[in-house]
Amino acid sequence: MNTRRKFLKKSALISSIGGLIGLKSKVYAINPTMNTSNRPIVISTWDHGIPANLEAWKILNNGGKAIDAVEAGVKVPEGDPNVRSVGFGGFPDKDGRVTLDACIMDENQQCGSVACLEHIKHPVSVARLVMDETPYVMLVGEGALEFALLKGFEKENLLTPETLLEWEEFKEELKEKRSIINIENHDTIGMLAMDVLGNLSGSCTTSGLTNKLHGRVGDSPIIGAGLFVDNEVGAACATGVGEEVIKQAGSAMVVELMRNGVHPEDACKEIIKRVLKTNRGNKDIQVGFLALRKDGIFGAFSLMKGFNFAVQDDTGNKLINSPHF
Ligand code: ASP
Repeated sequence: MNTRRKFLKKSALISSIGGLIGLKSKVYAINPTMNTSNRPIVISTWDHGIPANLEAWKILNNGGKAIDAVEAGVKVPEGDPNVRSVGFGGFPDKDGRVTLDACIMDENQQCGSVACLEHIKHPVSVARLVMDETPYVMLVGEGALEFALLKGFEKENLLTPETLLEWEEFKEELKEKRSIINIENHDTIGMLAMDVLGNLSGSCTTSGLTNKLHGRVGDSPIIGAGLFVDNEVGAACATGVGEEVIKQAGSAMVVELMRNGVHPEDACKEIIKRVLKTNRGNKDIQVGFLALRKDGIFGAFSLMKGFNFAVQDDTGNKLINSPHF
């Protein structure tokens, strides 16, 4: 059983500290002379957010830009063969192909994205180049790969022997449980950061749902679904069943609610409520949102138990269990 899945079992035992992030709705007025004591800060989804945050923090703590921090941060799980849900070593699709989705967005609302990209260990960096060096937002499949190779990325085999073995076992487990989607077969990293100047950026990267149909693309590379940043208001990202996130235009909606004065946690909760409503109250689907407001206040909410996120600021790097239904 991989570390992530073991962790999820263990996480049920860890007491929820959702209270830390405030459960009451507060009216929030966007104030340009806001307190700067909450920055820099970086938050990211799941326990693989802890080492990712540490890398991002090296940049933020030296006065670096949020956009550089969110790229460097998520490259940690992308490059780690033990993380089965992101980048190198990620679980493959039904055809045994590792296809990756990623996106990135900065404080000027510039963004880049790649979907169904094979053979490249760091899709977030390809997305960054789509943003920085092309007039486009999104490249997919073969075209994204050609672009990456042109830019000097190395073509690699991303399916490790360990992942292959686990994938075979996992497929059998999925068959037995007759389960398609659950907490154990998806785990994107989404990262949101605010730098010392108060600028926000975000990134999101994943190998998507385990055993997906070849060509399936989730929410993670879709700006507005898996990630959204509005430097005047805040940023949000998503994890979980991508189709449900896309249907709600999830991350953009969370940011829009924050613009209208809703607390980050309540904004995440509201979109989770909409997911529930769309699915007629079915609580067997995991979707989680994470939000960071312009004043450094953050919040999260998930449909099922088990979602957690990592927060790094100048008080340290900690894992927090998300409130859930
Ligand atoms: N949101 C991702 C997708 O649907 C999965 C995940 O969060 O792990 O592709």
